[in-house]
Amino acid sequence: KKDYKLVVIGGGTGGFAVTSKFAKKLGKGQIAVVEPNEEHYYQSMFTLVGGGLKTLEQAHRPTGSLLPDGVDWIKDSVAEFDAQNNFIVTQKGDKVRYDFLVIAMGIQLNYEKIKGALDALKHDPMVCSNYRPPFVSKTFEAIKNFKEGNAIFTLPNTPIKCAGAPQKIMYLADYHFRAMGKRHNANIYYRTSLPFMFTVKKYADALFEVAKNRGIDVAFRRCLIEVKHESKEAIFEDLENGNIETLKYAMLHLVPPMSCPDVLTKHKDIVDETGWVDVNKDTLQHKKYPNIFALGDCTNLPTSKTAAAVSSQSRVLQRNLNALLDGKPMKAVYDGYTSCPLITTKGKVIMAEFGFDQEPLETFPINQAKERRFMYHLKKDFMPHLYWKGLVKGHWNGPKYLRRILHLGMSK
Ligand code: FAD
Repeated sequence: KKDYKLVVIGGGTGGFAVTSKFAKKLGKGQIAVVEPNEEHYYQSMFTLVGGGLKTLEQAHRPTGSLLPDGVDWIKDSVAEFDAQNNFIVTQKGDKVRYDFLVIAMGIQLNYEKIKGALDALKHDPMVCSNYRPPFVSKTFEAIKNFKEGNAIFTLPNTPIKCAGAPQKIMYLADYHFRAMGKRHNANIYYRTSLPFMFTVKKYADALFEVAKNRGIDVAFRRCLIEVKHESKEAIFEDLENGNIETLKYAMLHLVPPMSCPDVLTKHKDIVDETGWVDVNKDTLQHKKYPNIFALGDCTNLPTSKTAAAVSSQSRVLQRNLNALLDGKPMKAVYDGYTSCPLITTKGKVIMAEFGFDQEPLETFPINQAKERRFMYHLKKDFMPHLYWKGLVKGHWNGPKYLRRILHLGMSK
């Protein structure tokens, strides 16, 4: 079959959240999900995998097992969009027509943009990256095998998904080095392209204190541009003045530059001038094509790119697309909700939650910038269930109503 009421591109977090919400309403054979991968990864767990607190095995399920009844799975990649004529073309050359399209293609990892990074990830067991399996499997091995010297953690000069992840793994490494009695042999460096620890000041201040108290050497506006694994050197550019800093590493956790997928950016009618899918930030409807919606990491929504953000976005998208299908006005408005459980050591989390204006939008009526054990268990033990049983099944819409109840109706 090559003609659908709804086609969803991407079987990741956003793709399944939306597909599950519409499967019953639209009925058998009306929805197709286009996704090339056999395995679906719960990427938020990668920090815990790299930190030795979960296994990679626990972080994925077969894509087919998440597919709601009656939904067709097109096991292929999208190669072309023809938004004016309502069809997409897959890599294998199949033309698939739609009435409505949802784009949820995530973010592209551009490891090749750091000279020598892929070589180092391939050949040096002490170079790792939580952002992609199988590199994430190298992280805990590197932490365990660390003996002495510089342990370096980086954040690139582009938007990334889960902007807290590059430093969460650093705090877990710090924990393990201490537990193994090796911390005094380690110099931990955080080199970030950002001018601060985190986009929201409240959490940035708290994280700066954490880093200071752990004896971590932090430098802002430093961008990793090259890795020389034969000489074990990481080369950084100072983004303020162009100066070069070369650091020897014993262990290096690197995060690649990221972008909207190339298949999208080559279609200038689909992306905005900054190269992200151009949606209305209130409704999630495409600005040019009213029968296209998008959510998640590939969009230009001015908020932090997380699965938590996708949970709130999926509900807004559902309500607005439903309204459109029923010929009613679209009323749901996205508030920019996003969240980042910032693991600061084994057993502690600062739970960052905020909206469009970078203002905290906290669920619990307590100071969430404080390191808390309760939040750690929420992240490690509860959120995986919320993901597999709630979010990708279309049942979890973010904590908006819980937040209102816990704040006795006085929260946004
Ligand atoms: P994805 O879930 O990445 O899905 C995109 C899908 O599109 C993929 O399945 C891909 O195969 C598919 N696709 C790509 N190109 C094509 C194509 N051409 N044709 C068809 N399909 C295609 N979020 C949190 O909320 N909390 C956290 O603690 C957290 N920690 C993280 C830690 C790490 C290390 C990482 C990597 C991510 C973390 N995230 C976290 C972020 C979260 O995983 C993403 O924001 C979320 O998955 C975004 O959902 P998405 O649907 O936009 O993209």
